[in-house]
Amino acid sequence: MGMAETDTDSPSRHVPEVMGQPLEPGHEEVGAIWKRRSGLRAIVAIHSTVLGPALGGTRFRAYATMDEAFRDVLRLSKAMSYKAAVAGLDLGGGKAVIVGDPAVSKTEELLIDYAHFIDTFQGRYLTAEDVGTTQADMDFLGEHTRFVTGRSAALGGSGDPSPITAYGVVRAMEATAEALWGVASLEGRHVAVNGVGKVGHCLAGLCAERGARLTVADVSEDALAQIRSEMDVEVAAPDALHRVPCDIYSPCALGGALNETNVAELACQAVCGSANNQLETPEVEAALRARGITYVPDYVANAGGIINIAYEFGAHDPEAARAHVGRIYDTVARLFEEAARSGEPLSVVADQMAEARIAAASPER
Ligand code: NAD
Repeated sequence: MGMAETDTDSPSRHVPEVMGQPLEPGHEEVGAIWKRRSGLRAIVAIHSTVLGPALGGTRFRAYATMDEAFRDVLRLSKAMSYKAAVAGLDLGGGKAVIVGDPAVSKTEELLIDYAHFIDTFQGRYLTAEDVGTTQADMDFLGEHTRFVTGRSAALGGSGDPSPITAYGVVRAMEATAEALWGVASLEGRHVAVNGVGKVGHCLAGLCAERGARLTVADVSEDALAQIRSEMDVEVAAPDALHRVPCDIYSPCALGGALNETNVAELACQAVCGSANNQLETPEVEAALRARGITYVPDYVANAGGIINIAYEFGAHDPEAARAHVGRIYDTVARLFEEAARSGEPLSVVADQMAEARIAAASPER
């Protein structure tokens, strides 16, 4: 494995191959580190800093091989560039992975080594919370490096992003309602939310406030009991919710929620949720289209969290952040307009929008 890339004179140097993996064209920099003292094995991938510093969370996960870890970090960092670009943020895309089981390997010594590794990118990479890391971890990293976002509100961070992420998703749903049913309202619409954790629970509340009827599912009895105590919801089994006839199906649990099998059984008109990587494979998009179901790209609908973080720089301005998240409505409306013009699905239009914005700002033009 290579050492950390610390050469700041050539930040746009292209690395053609890492461990036999050809890099996506456009990845600017990839650095990997191994520290015997703490057992830290981490990779930082910077896809693009064209629009600004590369922001993306640290995923702490027991990858089976380093090859799998590389593949994941390259894919996720590119997705972060697209997410920030479409959200209209002056941020690039990056991501980090730490290889190991967080329950076993996450020690203070390891996090300190990791913070020092982040420092070597001198601000070109900014980290945040992701699967396997917590806000408490960000608070701790923040004691050892400046290049951390998503710290707790008490430390000047923007706090839990889930409520504002949910707000962004409901705005995406309203734009979808306008495009599909001619009125930007969820009043009387039936929304099925799969996964009522931090985001899904808030989202259900926002839909209820707007007069929607709700059916929800979760593998956690606690999550179901909590939501039942707060609002009027029907409950379905997690593996049956997608078959419930509804207007909008909203995946808010794990990634890979939609596959060719369950798409064939969907009984909704649109899919719009917070989960990352909702489509198990890119082919699922075509299956949705063939069934006449509109898929609102996950990274557009769930950008509320990253938009909120972008407003952490300087003094956190929650009002401005909320207004920006509200404009997810306009972004989704633009996707529908462009899709109607070009005949392409919303996800292709979103990717094109991101690529155009990055290309327009690129010094290599
Ligand atoms: P969470 O862990 O708080 O909630 C997930 C919920 O899904 C839990 O209640 C869990 O019990 C449930 N669940 C797990 N497996 C399930 C299954 N098979 N069927 C039904 N329910 C299941 O996570 P969260 O922070 O609410 O995030 C939800 C999704 O949104 C994730 O994919 C996350 O990556 C994405 N996301 C979250 C944010 C944020 O601000 N938290 C931002 C962007 C994207």
